Amino acid sequence: MSTYSELPDGLKREEMEVDVLIVGGGSAGLSCALRLQNQIQQHNEDILEGRKSGQTIPDQMIVVLEKASEIGAHSLSGAVLNPAALRELVPNFLADGCPLDSEVKKDAVYYLGNDFSFKLPITPPPFHNEGNYITSISKFNRWLGSKCEAKGINIFPGFAAVEALYDGDRIVGVRTGDKGRDKNGKPKANFEPGLILKSKVVVFAEGTRGSLFKQVEKKLNLRAGKNPEVFEEGVKEVIQMPSGTVEAGQVIHTMGFPLKKSIGGTFIYTLPDDKIIVGLVAFLDTEDPLLDPHRELQKLKTHPFLQNMLKGGRVIAYGGKTLPAGGWYSMPRLYGDGFMVCGDSASMVDVQKLKGIHLAMKSGMLAADTIFDGLQKGADFSSEITRGYEKRVEGSFVKSELYRVRNFHQALSKGFLAGFPLIGLQEMTAGRGLQDFMKIDHMDAETTEKVVEVWGPEGLNAEENQLPKPDGVLFFDKLSSVYLTGTMHDEDSPNHLLLKNSDTCRTICEPKYKSPCNHFCPASVYEMVPSTQEPGKKDLQINYTNCIHCKTCDIKCPFENIEWTTPEGGGGPQYREV
Ligand code: SF4
Repeated sequence: MSTYSELPDGLKREEMEVDVLIVGGGSAGLSCALRLQNQIQQHNEDILEGRKSGQTIPDQMIVVLEKASEIGAHSLSGAVLNPAALRELVPNFLADGCPLDSEVKKDAVYYLGNDFSFKLPITPPPFHNEGNYITSISKFNRWLGSKCEAKGINIFPGFAAVEALYDGDRIVGVRTGDKGRDKNGKPKANFEPGLILKSKVVVFAEGTRGSLFKQVEKKLNLRAGKNPEVFEEGVKEVIQMPSGTVEAGQVIHTMGFPLKKSIGGTFIYTLPDDKIIVGLVAFLDTEDPLLDPHRELQKLKTHPFLQNMLKGGRVIAYGGKTLPAGGWYSMPRLYGDGFMVCGDSASMVDVQKLKGIHLAMKSGMLAADTIFDGLQKGADFSSEITRGYEKRVEGSFVKSELYRVRNFHQALSKGFLAGFPLIGLQEMTAGRGLQDFMKIDHMDAETTEKVVEVWGPEGLNAEENQLPKPDGVLFFDKLSSVYLTGTMHDEDSPNHLLLKNSDTCRTICEPKYKSPCNHFCPASVYEMVPSTQEPGKKDLQINYTNCIHCKTCDIKCPFENIEWTTPEGGGGPQYREV
């Protein structure tokens, strides 16, 4: 919930009634909106033209709320797209101008040692990408958004939903955040109160670690009996190479270097116009208090395999985000009175293949089909109806794909050596393995250990841990990387990163763990500075205007001391290429 919800005397929040409210304009939310509008239009046409009997459905006001300044600006992903859901949603997507960069033509997996590499003789089946496309999810979502608008769907960019509204346990709408408060929460001259949006049904499609759905699932106890949600953190760069040097359509995954203390891997995709995407993901249930995916990405580019590939290249874009890693057994109950939850917000990512866009799209479409059912029953969105969404998910490829890897994260988080035999067994038993279901007995926040236990007395000072000097061409410090994201927040607006207890950072976290947030944040938001409270100690300074909305701090702070809330709508990264 946003910290400031009181209005100045004399001001009232405007109330708006809509029919269908979708929170989040990513692939899940937009697919939901488009599918629903298509269904309604087709149904009405069929009745009016005598192809079927029944009643037409009146025009529905479908609203998609998006916290970014425009659709796509906060969308970040690998992204290799399995077109299964897209083909269903927009059958002629290629002719329709879908911005897919390249069909995947070659796959490979490499092992990287410190100064050598070798290609696995056979690419393991999970890394096969025949029929998939490399795309920029930011461009892809812009295209989906334009298709929605052409169908009369209302997209409200720059509107952050900050509070779910209830009638008992029924979700009846959301409140959007106020605009124009100063850093102390006081209204400025341009103050605009947030709206109360009432809706017959709400679809939560906020993406990874949705800040609104986090409150809803807690209040309604939607994860009872499930594994906790666990995550990976990923960062990526787009590198412009000299003309004529890149063959588009290659997908390469690597294991080994540079990650030493955390489980993870890298991905390399080649695009038309001589661009290469290089990315790295790491499990957040690591013990490493100094985990820093941005640092590891810079180190990755020093490896001879990458040096050779990236000679003459220049980084032109950067981004970071978390992705849900728990899969099937971490999924919450997907429905309730007046609501459903889709995509990353519901942990729907195949973390073995690092793919979630098609699952997000399909889940959004299945939510749309359920809304369509409800509309035919006189706009009934009680849980009797919305339960149908969970049944649809169970009968779709969302389940078959996630169920096959239902124990994958649990096995791999034991480490490569202990995990690979278990994963081999899972492959042979359709995901079952030695034990089913494998529990996750920790939250990501609970696994951090002391620096000395993980890195030894030298910490990161050992010679082999040194980083290349930033040159602003291929190697970047974090702040210069953030500049490439186009991130903007009003300096005179409330800090959206809420600290429960600042003393914890100074008195326990820094001495014990060396302030993990200073490392895992991919945007240099957190910084320890000389303490004003206790000479000789350090206080946490939060440079919140740098935040690229990855949500890692909300997940991985060892004391769960940081809460990520939605900043004023429109703030955040301005992704275009990633
Ligand atoms: Fe990510 Fe938190 Fe840093 Fe923002 S402040 S970039 S959400 S880790």
